[in-house]
Amino acid sequence: MTRIIRTVEEWQILRSELKYSDTLGFVPTMGALHAGHASLIKRSISENGYTVVSIFVNPTQFNNPDDLKRYPRTESEDLNQLEKLQVDYAFIPDYQSIYPDDFYYKVTENNLSLTMEGTGRPGHFDGVLTVVMKLLNIIRPTRSYFGEKDYQQYMLVKKMSEAFFMNVEVIPCPTVRDSDGLALSSRNVLLSKEDRQRAPLFAQLLQSDKTAEQVKVELQQSGFAVDYITDFEGRRYGAVYLGKVRLIDNIELKQNVS
Ligand code: AMP
Repeated sequence: MTRIIRTVEEWQILRSELKYSDTLGFVPTMGALHAGHASLIKRSISENGYTVVSIFVNPTQFNNPDDLKRYPRTESEDLNQLEKLQVDYAFIPDYQSIYPDDFYYKVTENNLSLTMEGTGRPGHFDGVLTVVMKLLNIIRPTRSYFGEKDYQQYMLVKKMSEAFFMNVEVIPCPTVRDSDGLALSSRNVLLSKEDRQRAPLFAQLLQSDKTAEQVKVELQQSGFAVDYITDFEGRRYGAVYLGKVRLIDNIELKQNVS
């Protein structure tokens, strides 16, 4: 049985009952769970005595109010999935539980967070890092799992854990894709049928041998609005819009492409 916890206090009691030798894996999510989330959860279950999954649509990381309103919320289906995966705990707090300070306190990173996702979405990573710091302080896991699909986010969380000497292992997990190559994302369900058919070209072009500029132009010619295609430290990152839906992805660059 997956035990549902909705308050910080209830979790703190359960956490204090775990033995020092018990390992605890943590997978933070915003719900609308899919096979990408499931891969993180399975990895956590395989590496830890207990696993906790949080579901919290974090308003402070949305710079666009419409995006927050449209974000899919599927709590009962999510709980069924957690049950099937045999997750021990589902932490599902409300806004007040996480932000008793009303976001007057925040974690700000002033380098990597200002590029790529940070350029198009000002303040996004302040919201991400703040909620991850809060969740890690509440849950106190041994290990926490993050998807490479959001590689910039993974790097920022990992570096935050090092900068603040946080006692947690931050573990990256490979991107899970649909059979046509599109990276799984909770936002994919918001794509129109036509855009869903067009979407795999984004991953295909990112993975091609073309330059970032060529990829950008070809995407634009195929009806994508391109936010950025950027090569950085051995990976190629991209963000595009199809209609109102923003898609992000990244891949490891082959050695012959800079
Ligand atoms: P989200 O619910 O979108 O905030 O994602 C929660 C976690 O799942 C993050 O660490 C994401 O990077 C990860 N994740 C989302 N989609 C995928 C995917 N397709 N493959 C692997 N991890 C993913």
